[in-house]
Parts: sequence; structure tokens; C-alpha cells
Amino acid sequence: MRPLRADGTVGSCERCPRLVASRSQIVEASGPLSASILFVGEAPGATEDTEGVPFCGRSGAILDEALAAAGLQRDAVRITNCVRCRPPENRDPHVAERANCAPYLSAEIALVDPAVIVPLGRIAGEALLGEPVRITAATGSTQRVQVAGQAYPVLICMHPAATLYDRSLRPRFDAAIAAAARLG
Ligand code: URA
Repeated sequence: MRPLRADGTVGSCERCPRLVASRSQIVEASGPLSASILFVGEAPGATEDTEGVPFCGRSGAILDEALAAAGLQRDAVRITNCVRCRPPENRDPHVAERANCAPYLSAEIALVDPAVIVPLGRIAGEALLGEPVRITAATGSTQRVQVAGQAYPVLICMHPAATLYDRSLRPRFDAAIAAAARLG
């Protein structure tokens, strides 16, 4: 697989036939390549698939609020996904789909070279750490990962959608985003 283009985009990819058949477009990462914080989601949802922008739907609104509360503008951070094409019916991306897209994530980390990486949700956390993650319990904790020979701090965070299903989680989500802002 060729790496990302110099501007950080994938451009074209047909490695996952089922996603190619159902997607509207590849949802490229957003935000500057010079960002010091890299957020990594799971995969685009319906709104992202239509708009072509990661986290621009309901989950994105929660993320934007938490960023603003932490003193960060969305356009100051880089936002990407483990899998850049929407899985049909919003199912979890399959293991093979995550593996197909993983080289793009590694290339993006190397290109952005962030001060901190923030996986949003279990699937992103497991993609980055390469081990099972109990995401709610782990939210707010940090680990280090090696990507292309470089060590990066990873600040684990639950998915913003989790706070829609259980509103009592919102303060912990906001606190994790604030902690990421301090590291970035
Ligand atoms: N959820 C994700 O994990 N990523 C998006 O881009 C949107 C919602």
C-alpha cells in the first residue's frame, strides 16, 4: 500500500470491497498537519460519510463542546479515524478492515508527529495500543506507543457518543479532553 500523500490524504483506496460498495466517499482527516493533538475515532458515521469530514455529526458536536471548554478550537487539532470509510448500518469495522486501514493511521501519526494521541472509544484505543482496552475505566489514563520508531503518549478517552447513552459520563469525557489539551 502506498503511504499517505504529502498533504495527509489517502486520495483513493479500494482495499475493503464491502466499504467501497457502501461508502459515499473516503472521509479524510481534518485539521492541520502541524497540530500537536491527534484525535483518532473509530469510523465515519452517516453524517461524516455525507459531509466528508470526521466527527461532524452528533458525536462531533460533543467533541467540539469539550474542545471549546478546554480552550481549543476544532481547527487547531487533527482529527482522523481508524477506518476512513463508513461501515454499513454503522456496524463496528471488521478486523480485516481495521488492518487494511492501519497503515494510513501509522503514516498519519508519523506525518503529524503529535505531542499526544487521543483515541476516542474502545476500537480506536485497541487499534493504537494493540491490546484489549476497558475504555470507560481507562478514560483519562495515559500509555506510550511506538510508531515508526518514535514513542508517543496516548491519552485514552471514551467515545463522545458514550456520553449520549449515559449522561453521567460527560464530566469524565470533558476531563479527559482537558487533560489532552494540557499535554498538547
Ligand atoms: N464516530 C467516529 O468514531 N468517527 C467519526 O468520524 C464520527 C463518529
